[in-house]
Amino acid sequence: MEAELTAVLAERRAQALYRTRRVVDGPQAPQQVIDGRPVLSFCSNDYLGLANHPEVIAALQRGADDYGVGAGAAHLINGHARAHHALEEELAEFTGRERALLFSTGYMANLGVITALLGKADAVFEDRLNHASLIDAGLLSGARLRRYLHADPSSLDGGLDKHPQGRRLIVTDGVFSMDGDLAPLPALAASAARNKAWLMVDDAHGLGVLGRQGRGTLDHYGMDAREVPVLMGTLGKAFGTSGAFVAGSEALIETLIQQARSYIYTTALPPALAEATRTSLRLLQSGDERRECLAALIRRFRNGAKQLGLELMASETPIQPIVVGEAARAVAISEALLQHGILVTAIRPPTVPAGSARLRVTLSAAHSEAQVDRLLDALGEVAT
Ligand SMILES: *Cc1c(COP(=O)(O)O)cnc(C)c1O
Repeated sequence: MEAELTAVLAERRAQALYRTRRVVDGPQAPQQVIDGRPVLSFCSNDYLGLANHPEVIAALQRGADDYGVGAGAAHLINGHARAHHALEEELAEFTGRERALLFSTGYMANLGVITALLGKADAVFEDRLNHASLIDAGLLSGARLRRYLHADPSSLDGGLDKHPQGRRLIVTDGVFSMDGDLAPLPALAASAARNKAWLMVDDAHGLGVLGRQGRGTLDHYGMDAREVPVLMGTLGKAFGTSGAFVAGSEALIETLIQQARSYIYTTALPPALAEATRTSLRLLQSGDERRECLAALIRRFRNGAKQLGLELMASETPIQPIVVGEAARAVAISEALLQHGILVTAIRPPTVPAGSARLRVTLSAAHSEAQVDRLLDALGEVAT
């Protein structure tokens, strides 16, 4: 085994696809200590700067005083705390749906929903650039999995025509995690309605960031639960905590409670984390200052990058990738930025398609204009 694994690892290294971890000291914030040295980082999904917000931290501490640390059991045994229940009600209200159900991670939420809704007789239609957890969920469900061209409703229609039988679920990211663009939800919903298919949106990167009071990509488009009956959101990004939820009708949520294996057979989130998330939900809804600040930083970055002649993607969200092509070049630029004290991770295949390796810059309301300017200066030196 050793010899075989070592050979495969060496091959990965030769292709500039080897991944390593960096060790972070201290909280998630723009200025971090990583591998023992100070860096300015642009790769977190903490878009609103809530991961290290004093009120969220205080809520977690109060939660620990009230509930202790571990939930002790799964939700259906005796791990479903009042804090979880209250958070679910607040998330249902926030998303304008009858109910919401907490999961321990977004990955597990996606596995749970898709496997609960679909089986061998059914079909699932996924955007080619969907998050890995959605693809894995489609495979695990046993349904026929068809991947349509990115953000292309006519490619989706072609697939739907070929699979008229069984339940049919269309699944898409709301905001694509590695590109930052939005799914064409109105066209996808129209296609779903014409074909009597169901539409599910994973809004991991839209909630908190887009729409009125951060209500997400659906609100941005003015769409409701009738058009998108299955909404999934994560809590580890703009919410700044951890976990995930699915929001929808009474029947959908009861189905998940009965059937979603990644809900049933796992320990509930720590209740204190639910308390912390209730506070971030309140902060994220109260006022738009964080979102306005973020929007200004996005504009500043895009203008500066254009002046440098960098190729940006069509993204108005905090995800601002710079596509460089080859994995080795992305790694080289990322390392050169680190020499300037700036951390932007290189994203390589298989996370993104071959030949589209990129530096995935993400901005946060916690960044300052001066910090964005520092990033632009460094990019000007190493990436142009
Ligand atoms: C991060 C992410 C997930 C997974 O959520 P976790 O809570 O981190 O497991 C799912 N879908 C999308 C689109 C994501 O970006």
